[in-house]
Amino acid sequence: MDYHKIEMNTNKEPGILAIEGILQTALISAPFPILVFEGVEMKLTYCNDALLEVWAKDRSIVGKTFLEILPEQKDQPFPELLRRVFRTGTTHTDTEALAYVVKDGIPVAIYFDYSYTAIRNPDGTITGVLVICRDVTQQVTSKRKVLESEARFRNTVLQAPVAMAIVKGPEFIIETANKESLQLWSRTAEIIGRRVTDVFPEIQKQGFLNILTYVYSNGEVYHGNEVPVELMDNGQRITVYINFVFHPIFEEDRVSSIMTVGYNVTELVKARKKAEESEAAAIEAKTGLEAALAKKDEFLSLASHELKTPLTSISGYLQVMERSNVGEPGNTFIRKTVQQVKKLSNLVSDLLDVSKIEAGKLQLSRIQANVRAVIEESIELTTHSNPEQAIVFISTADDVSIELDVHRIEQVMMNLISNAIKYTPGKAQIEIRLSRDDRQVKIEVQDQGIGIAKDHRAKIFTKFHRVDELNPVISGLGIGLYISKQIIERHAGRLWVESEPGKGSCFCFTLPI
Ligand code: ADP
Repeated sequence: MDYHKIEMNTNKEPGILAIEGILQTALISAPFPILVFEGVEMKLTYCNDALLEVWAKDRSIVGKTFLEILPEQKDQPFPELLRRVFRTGTTHTDTEALAYVVKDGIPVAIYFDYSYTAIRNPDGTITGVLVICRDVTQQVTSKRKVLESEARFRNTVLQAPVAMAIVKGPEFIIETANKESLQLWSRTAEIIGRRVTDVFPEIQKQGFLNILTYVYSNGEVYHGNEVPVELMDNGQRITVYINFVFHPIFEEDRVSSIMTVGYNVTELVKARKKAEESEAAAIEAKTGLEAALAKKDEFLSLASHELKTPLTSISGYLQVMERSNVGEPGNTFIRKTVQQVKKLSNLVSDLLDVSKIEAGKLQLSRIQANVRAVIEESIELTTHSNPEQAIVFISTADDVSIELDVHRIEQVMMNLISNAIKYTPGKAQIEIRLSRDDRQVKIEVQDQGIGIAKDHRAKIFTKFHRVDELNPVISGLGIGLYISKQIIERHAGRLWVESEPGKGSCFCFTLPI
C-alpha cells in the first residue's frame, strides 16, 4: 500500500469519487500537519507534507511507530496521550503545547495546537488515531516577546527613581505604580487594579481627569509645571506641588494606556514662596524705613528752623544786655550765657545744614577770595573762644586766590580746628599748613591728640558717626565732619584724615585752583 494515499473505494459513484479526490488533495496540501497512526502498535500510516516539514523528516518515516520516528519524545507526554485516545476513544485537544523536536541534531522547541481523534471501523472498533496539528511557534514566541517587553517596561516603571505609573484604558485603571508614585499620592499598593476616579475622588474637581481624557483621546503628551494638587492623606487634606508628564502609550495606532511621570517639587516651591515672601517683607520694611527716615529728616529740618528763630532773638537781647553793663557778677553770667547760646546756635545751624544736604539744597555762594586770608580769619574766630590754645600757621601759598564760599570754607576750618582742640588732651600745639601745587591748594590741620583707629577713619565722615569710647567724655553730634566733607566735595576738592592712635591726627583738604 502506498502510504501517501488513502485507499479509495473505486466502486463508488463518480460524484463521490470526485469529492474523495478533492479531500485527498486537501489533506496533502493542507498547510498544517495531519497524520494517522494505526493498529495496536500505532504505526504511522499517513502524513502530509506539512508534517514532514515540521518534523524535518522524509517519507521513510511512514510505517514506523511514533517513538521510532521521534525517540526524543520518550519522556514527553505525547506517546502516552496517543495511546490513551486509542484505548478510550476520547478526543484530546490542547493549545500552545510545547514539544521538542531534534532538527540537525539540535533540539528545537515548537509550540502547537493539536487534536488526537480516534478513527473507528463501521462497527465502532478503534483502528487508529487521526492527529491534526497547527504550528503556532511563531505566534507564541512573538506573544512572549510582547509580554517580556511589557514586563521589562513595567520593571523600568517600578524601578524608576521618579514617580511613574501606568493607567490603562478609557476608565484609567491603575495598572502599575512604583513606590515613588504611591508615596507622592499618599496611597498603598492596594490601589493597583482600581479606577483612578475611585482611588482619587478628591482630584476629580482639579482637572486631572480632563487632562487624562484629553491625552487618551488625542494621543498628545501633556506637561504640567509646579501644579498644586490637593490630596487626602490619612483623612487630612494636603497640598503637594508636582511637575508631571502624561504620556500616551500606543497599541496599533490607538492609545491603550497613559504613562504618568511625576516629580514632587513641593519643598522647592515652598522654599521659593518663602524667599519671595521674605523679599516682599524686606521691601516693605525698607519702604517703611525709608518713610521713617524721610519723616525724621523732615522733623530735623522743621525743628532746626523753629529753634533758629527764638535763638536769634535771645542772641539779640543778650547783646543789648552785654552793652548795658549790669555790673558783676551779672556781666560774667551774661558772657557765659552768650557763649552757651553761640554753641547752641552752632548746633542748630549744623542740623539745618544736614537737612539741607539730605534734600540736596546746600547752596554755595562763591566769590573770588584769598585762601590764606580765609584760613587766618577762621583761626582768629576759633582762638577768640579758645584764647589759651597755641595754633601755629605755616603758609607756602600766600597769593592763591580762588572762587569759593568763604563762609562755608571757614565753617570747615573752624570744625577741623575745634575738633583738633577737643580731641587733644591738654593744650598741645596745633599746626595748620597751607601749600599748593599747579592744580590745587592743600590745607592741613595737625594735632597731637588721641588719634583715630583705622576702623573709624572712613566712618567719621558719615552722618552721626562718633568713636564710641568718647561719647560720654566729649560732647558732639557726629555731624561736623559729614558737613565738612560735603562742602569740600561741592568745591570739587577732597577731605581726608591721616592719623595714628595716641599720636595725633592730620585732617587735610584740597581745593582746585
Ligand atoms: P563731633 O566732634 O561732634 O562728634 P565730628 O563729625 O566733627 O563730630 O567728628 C566725628 C568723630 O570723629 C568725633 O566724634 C571723633 O570721634 C572723631 N574725630 C574728629 N576729629 C578728631 C580729631 N582731631 N582727633 C580724634 N578724633 C577726631
